[in-house]
Amino acid sequence: MTGESTHGRRCTICAHADRAPIELGLANNVPVRMLAKRHGISKEAAFRHRKNHMPTQLLAKLKTRGRSTEIDLEQLRITESEGLLQHLVAQRARLYCLADDAEDLKDIGNAARVHGQLTRNLELTGKLLGDLQTGNQTITQNILIAPQYHTMRTEMIRALRPYPDAQRAVVAVLQAMEAPAIQGEVAHA
Ligand SMILES: [Zn+2]
Repeated sequence: MTGESTHGRRCTICAHADRAPIELGLANNVPVRMLAKRHGISKEAAFRHRKNHMPTQLLAKLKTRGRSTEIDLEQLRITESEGLLQHLVAQRARLYCLADDAEDLKDIGNAARVHGQLTRNLELTGKLLGDLQTGNQTITQNILIAPQYHTMRTEMIRALRPYPDAQRAVVAVLQAMEAPAIQGEVAHA
């Protein structure tokens, strides 16, 4: 029996905007847990839809090895990207600490080197977030990854140089703000 409802209950998958990719995933044995998370559906609804609303012929037609590989690769890319992003965020917090230390010691050479690494870190993070946004992730844009933040931070700390107490207090606030970004930068849909 194939229809839009089972025992009078409306099937959430049949009515779903992502019905096509969900069915493609179901036919290619993408874990239902993964499909549920990706498309915001219940696992039970997905199993029920495959059992009641996807005839054998449809499953066979949608079953293509190439597509299955593509789906797995996309998932792998997202997982890898998230790991890399977290690494970049952690690295950036450490680099800011190093930059502050170098500025304190008036170590111009090291300060310049750390600022160069920070710029590369920001470029990579921006590129990675651009890649992630094309996937199925929601990214909460964070002021900390904006290049303007980096410029503002540097100028502010320089401007406070004649006032060491104020400078220390501001640096402490900035560093505290930069550290928890490791948890908050990637928000799952
Ligand atoms: Zn259905």
